[in-house]
Amino acid sequence: MKKNILTGIRPTGNLHLGHYFGASRNWIKLQDNPEYDFHLEIADVQALTDHFDDPSKVRENVYELAMDLLSIGLDPKKVHLFIQSQIPEIAELTVFYSNLVTMARLYRNPTVKTEIKQKKALFGNEGESVTYGFVGYPVSQAADITAFNGELIPVGEDQLPLIEQCREIVRKFNSIYGDLLKEPEPLLSSTPRIKGLDGSEKMGKSLGNAIYLKDSEEEISKKIMNAITDPNKIKKDDPANPHICMVYYYHQLIQNPNLETVCEECKKGHRGCVQCKKELIQKMNEFLDPIREKRKYYENHQEEVEKILKEGTESARATAKETMKKVREAMKINY
Ligand code: ATP
Ligand code: MG
Repeated sequence: MKKNILTGIRPTGNLHLGHYFGASRNWIKLQDNPEYDFHLEIADVQALTDHFDDPSKVRENVYELAMDLLSIGLDPKKVHLFIQSQIPEIAELTVFYSNLVTMARLYRNPTVKTEIKQKKALFGNEGESVTYGFVGYPVSQAADITAFNGELIPVGEDQLPLIEQCREIVRKFNSIYGDLLKEPEPLLSSTPRIKGLDGSEKMGKSLGNAIYLKDSEEEISKKIMNAITDPNKIKKDDPANPHICMVYYYHQLIQNPNLETVCEECKKGHRGCVQCKKELIQKMNEFLDPIREKRKYYENHQEEVEKILKEGTESARATAKETMKKVREAMKINY
């Protein structure tokens, strides 16, 4: 019996290094394992929970993200790549699950809490930006997971409280309606939280601190030149601590074969930050070039991307319909 994998990504912007090293690089490995049945959701409904006033951004990013995912090697023959809004059964499940969780519990969810804080910092006023749909998005995520009988959920560390929330909803459902739904388990990558260019704990699309896989050479150069380094290093030949430097952090991330030298020279004050940044820019471009090339192909073959999404969504919907039928039977609302 195959194990069901479900994961998702919000179409709020392009794929960045945080996703790639924190999550999607792992997805590309998992798709080759014949023991898994893999559903990958482009979570446009979830994206609307905090981008409700900018729906065209979400719409455009559905195709943008699909192209990014295909460019890093996602194989639509191995993964059901689908669009959340095209599966109405997920919305239906969300309504039923919304009775199984309290508002207090949702407000206590650490991920929701952090995101509300970020909104406050951005908008100043929580009341204007935190909608009913936003506070409830962990409930719709539980619907995403269970619609496809998700057992293993490959995610970054920020998602762990949401998986826990889903497990609670599943237990509550099963205790009322019988043992139907499976409790999912998270699957973390070896680098579950990638830091942002500004040195903050998480690189994120909504945080303005990301390096995108589709960034041009000029954009990469500008971003890396502005990256945070050891603040105690003033002059070129001051010794510094690479372990608090974002430039060294990214040298590590993309596995610069010259890493030891970078570290030693930095510690001894034998390497200036400008030289170090230039080396990173070159290595980053070498890393991104094959991805950029594949992306160009899909940009010129949009109809292929549309077909992949249509077929992936059709096959995913068939599974969600089966789940919905069982849920209605268990709830005895199959009149
Ligand atoms: P948004 O800011 O709109 O929430 P995001 O950058 O957090 O966007 P998501 O689409 O919410 O991206 O996340 C998709 C997946 O990528 C999730 O599994 C998430 O945990 C993972 N991910 C995103 N950013 C990082 C990061 N900096 N480090 C590790 N994993 C990450
Ligand atoms: Mg996120």
